[in-house]
Amino acid sequence: MDSILIIYTGGTIGMVRDDETGALMSFDFNSLLNEIPEIKKFECNIDSVSFDEPIDSSNMQPENWLTIAQLIFDNYKAHDGFVVLHGSDTMAYTASALSFLLENLSKPVILTGSQLPIGDVRTDAKENLLTAIEIASSTKNGKAIVPEVAIYFEYDLYRGNRSTKSNAEDFEAFTSPNYPVLAQAGVSLKFNHSAIYKTNNKQLKLNSFLNNNIATIKLYPGISEQQIFSIINIPDLRAIVLETFGAGNASTQIWFIDLLIKAIKKDIVILNISQCEGGSVEQGKYETSSAFNKIGVISGKDMTYEAAITKLMYLLGTDLSIQEIKVWLQKPLRGEVTF
Ligand code: ASP
Repeated sequence: MDSILIIYTGGTIGMVRDDETGALMSFDFNSLLNEIPEIKKFECNIDSVSFDEPIDSSNMQPENWLTIAQLIFDNYKAHDGFVVLHGSDTMAYTASALSFLLENLSKPVILTGSQLPIGDVRTDAKENLLTAIEIASSTKNGKAIVPEVAIYFEYDLYRGNRSTKSNAEDFEAFTSPNYPVLAQAGVSLKFNHSAIYKTNNKQLKLNSFLNNNIATIKLYPGISEQQIFSIINIPDLRAIVLETFGAGNASTQIWFIDLLIKAIKKDIVILNISQCEGGSVEQGKYETSSAFNKIGVISGKDMTYEAAITKLMYLLGTDLSIQEIKVWLQKPLRGEVTF
């Protein structure tokens, strides 16, 4: 019989409304499972483990990602799939981080949550959780159908490191602008087999170092020299995610390019990510990005911001050289970027 481990980290899915203030607060995990008696109907063994203190995902930190990855690693042999219950706000960051931390994954790790608490009459939590369990336990010829980190939300399954939270109001909270959905849940589950990650059948490896000495510069017309100067002079800074316009474009002002050159000379990696959700950075397509290729800004191509941040934390946590890191930023490690 298949065995699934549910890891409960917190988020709206497990919250209750405070009668006096109306604010949403976490409550205990067993009460959450009691709200879904249908869980007992699955023909698989379901175990669960909960964070001691469930958290709103806005409080998620890299240490929490390492805790989740360690839990999956420690329980890997005993379980066929994993469902991580998580707040939607930073779910795409956690999913991206887990994809880099869990190398050679061959079992499903499905993150889900909900926009409304499980106790609410119109909650989306039940469908999300039940279908996530079904996906995590789906096999074909004895092998997991989705051997990767994915997000299931409102009838769609997305690759974790390709997804982003794009709506704070709709039940359909996530999109995966540069990669097709991995599955759709209608009357039956329709898997998009050609889009699903192919495992390499190697042994699972847990990577457990993340380096968060990184910063973001989100460009806007009128951004000051002082602001960029301050950021590139942050002590121990190792990388900057530069959020540019359109296909990776930016101002050609001399002071701006000069500051980037200074940063690159200090071995700070500058990774160019577009402010547009869909499409890709193409350095050199316009004059406003041609200097980037010359000075050594790295194209993040069609990576999400969440994948860019967590991939940098992961790569900077390895002992790879700065040159190797720059090469890997442009190649897919876990299907996070189109090659
Ligand atoms: N603030 C909540 C969280 O991310 C929202 C949610 O669960 O969807 O934990």
